[in-house]
Amino acid sequence: MLHSMSKADNFSNAVLDWYDRHGRKDLPWQRDTSPYRVWVSEIMLQQTQVKTVIPYFESFMTAFPDVHSLAAAPEDEVLHLWTGLGYYARARNLHRAAKKIVDEFAGVFPDTLEGLEALSGIGRSTAGAILSIAFGQRASILDGNVKRVLARYHRVAGWPGQSAVHKQLWQIAEQYTPQERCADYTQAMMDLGATLCTRSAPACHLCPIGSGCAANAAGDPLTYPGKKPKKTLPVRATHFLVARNRDGEVWLEKRPARGIWGGLWCFPQAQDERDAADLCLDLWGESAQKLDEWRAFRHTFSHYHLDITPVIVQVDAAPGAVMAASDRLWYNLRSAPTIGLAAPVVSLLARLAETYPSKETTR
Ligand code: SF4
Repeated sequence: MLHSMSKADNFSNAVLDWYDRHGRKDLPWQRDTSPYRVWVSEIMLQQTQVKTVIPYFESFMTAFPDVHSLAAAPEDEVLHLWTGLGYYARARNLHRAAKKIVDEFAGVFPDTLEGLEALSGIGRSTAGAILSIAFGQRASILDGNVKRVLARYHRVAGWPGQSAVHKQLWQIAEQYTPQERCADYTQAMMDLGATLCTRSAPACHLCPIGSGCAANAAGDPLTYPGKKPKKTLPVRATHFLVARNRDGEVWLEKRPARGIWGGLWCFPQAQDERDAADLCLDLWGESAQKLDEWRAFRHTFSHYHLDITPVIVQVDAAPGAVMAASDRLWYNLRSAPTIGLAAPVVSLLARLAETYPSKETTR
């Protein structure tokens, strides 16, 4: 019996043929595929490129080879392994979901869209990726890469953050998802977006779906997807008290679980210079001496810019002297404890080590 090939079949066949020849097949999470490994990789890959994710994924799997070890780990250790990857809510959600999978499902991953979407941090696209890649089911994805490909292919106008645009893109994604080889198709679409249909330099002449692509025909791929409407972010300012003791250890405090840098370790913060001086006195008494003040730098959150002025302070406290509270510590740069650090803290610690190289003490 002869079947005429539908437009959707043509699309997915072209994508799969391209994948067979050019797709990525040696990524760490493509080895020993399991729902757990696919899930962790998908969460890490949100907002982060493959080459950045690979070493983080490898260390994470060494530390937590399965959902049970992740669920049993202290949050500090999970955040520590996430340090530098950013968007820490992803790590906290991952940890929370692991506990739920262990406590409520005896460590077995749900294999339905609803079941997966009920877990912290898993949206429809991540659930689709897990279902197709790990369970071999027919399920669609719509991550940033796929949005870009489909918005260009059909010249879908508007910002995908708007619900009407989002809905339209989902419909297109569903329509093209094939019945067979859905796992390869999912990976192929992610690869196509990441390597060919890139944000600023799409290689349309190499593209397997180039002949049917409306934006390619019109010569305006860069117009799609539509940009997020700009809003000006408010600016806030803070002072970081960067205190060193006699041994070059640095004082850090654990942030509350909620709010910015939740659960991560950071320097004490003060509103202004006077507040900083008072806080210094409160924390370390008369022995604290201001050594320097570094030029303010900007850290941008989704809702505001934070201008941070680092104030460097020398404290005459013995190492380990004030260790009563579990949310404060003297951080030893040479034998760093396993805790999660806020991004600006990582860069300030590096600069501090460069500016004040510590004398090697034998202890
Ligand atoms: S033809 Fe160009 S714009 Fe269209 S999907 Fe391919 S790379 Fe993207």
